[in-house]
Amino acid sequence: MSSLQPVRGTHDLMFDDMRRHRLVEATAFEVASRYGYGEIATPVFEFTEVFTRTLGDTSDIVTKEMYTFETKGGERITLRPEGTAGVARAFISGGLAQQVPLKFFYRGPMFRHERPQKGRQRQFHQIGAELLGVPGPQADVEVIALAAHILKELKVAGTITLQLNSLGDAESRAAYRDVLVKFLSARRDKLSAESQERLERNPLRVLDSKDPADKAAIEGAPKYSDHLNQTSQDFFKAVQDGLSALGISFVLNPALVRGLDYYSHTAFEFVTDALGAQGTVLAGGRYDGLVKDMGGPPTPGIGWAAGIERLSMLLPEIAPAKRPLAVIPVGATEEKVAELLANELRQAGFTVDLGYGGNMGKRMKRANKVAAVVALILGEDEVKGNVVTVRDLDSGNQATVARDALVNHLAAYL
Ligand code: ATP
Ligand code: MG
Repeated sequence: MSSLQPVRGTHDLMFDDMRRHRLVEATAFEVASRYGYGEIATPVFEFTEVFTRTLGDTSDIVTKEMYTFETKGGERITLRPEGTAGVARAFISGGLAQQVPLKFFYRGPMFRHERPQKGRQRQFHQIGAELLGVPGPQADVEVIALAAHILKELKVAGTITLQLNSLGDAESRAAYRDVLVKFLSARRDKLSAESQERLERNPLRVLDSKDPADKAAIEGAPKYSDHLNQTSQDFFKAVQDGLSALGISFVLNPALVRGLDYYSHTAFEFVTDALGAQGTVLAGGRYDGLVKDMGGPPTPGIGWAAGIERLSMLLPEIAPAKRPLAVIPVGATEEKVAELLANELRQAGFTVDLGYGGNMGKRMKRANKVAAVVALILGEDEVKGNVVTVRDLDSGNQATVARDALVNHLAAYL
């Protein structure tokens, strides 16, 4: 029954997985709020153009990974592979240019057709932040600081290193492109077929290749950092100084070029070795050309996205779910009263478990199974006397409590 399996590379998230997922989202958004971010939810699908025009037609995402289809009305639609393009599209179509600076936080599923493995799904989830309208390096510092702050708050920062690079401005990039093409052309036959093609269309991306042959061939390649013009060097220095002033440590990684075409100046990744090959948990950079390339008013931008699944795997043991109170009718005649009591307590804000039938023994077993903190026992005598037997399931201590004093008596469990 293969059709009843989830599609390869997709997963059902439930219970504890879902709680980890929500914890990542909620913590990230809470911290982002402190930095003035508001939430945005763009559609899960967009016109294909939104991605092809922004991600560049040589990026892995566009060449291999997009889920694209034609609708009945003949429109070309793509399930979003990442969040930035949609936010930029919303910025343009919403006419928000007069309102900059704008800070957007988002969360949600992304779709990429790549080879599933640990930490790599075809439907995965991201949290992300985008800051639009600030050209100066203080924006880069703040956006990276936000990311570091979230990782700290999630208690995953310990295994994670911030890697930093500069992709320079357009002038630097053109200059570097020339020397890189010269270097790579001399080694052309040692490059993978894919990189040979990239050499023509987007040589910088050869540096990003994971192919071992490519890695060997690019050994000793000229460094971008030696070809940054003064403006780019100053910008990069200001970012580094700003981070240092905030006590955020980083390492420079000249090989960090990021897969997408739209980046300039700052590129960064937060990387761990605790997840095997899929070590990048959060990645981002500055994309000053993006909004204009999409046809909007020239607007600088910087942002990042993090994989929720990868972050979830790094989380320490999370706090257990709230322990319920178990309402336990001793016999069938007390069941109606038990239902009313459960309702009253739930309305008052308590977490209440009520089994569905079975004798007292079976119900006590269930109370243990759901890790109830207290059993509220209703037998014939309790109902007659308008009281409840309250048994602490950890200590075994028991007390008889008047029905109308119960909510107060249990206040500690709210
Ligand atoms: P990778 O090099 O791992 O393919 P990427 O450069 O394609 O990553 P980005 O596009 O920068 O990744 O996405 C940001 C983050 O989203 C990644 O650092 C990762 O945590 C997460 N991510 C990306 N692709 C996947 C995926 N297929 N499954 C799970 N998480 C993913
Ligand atoms: Mg990828």
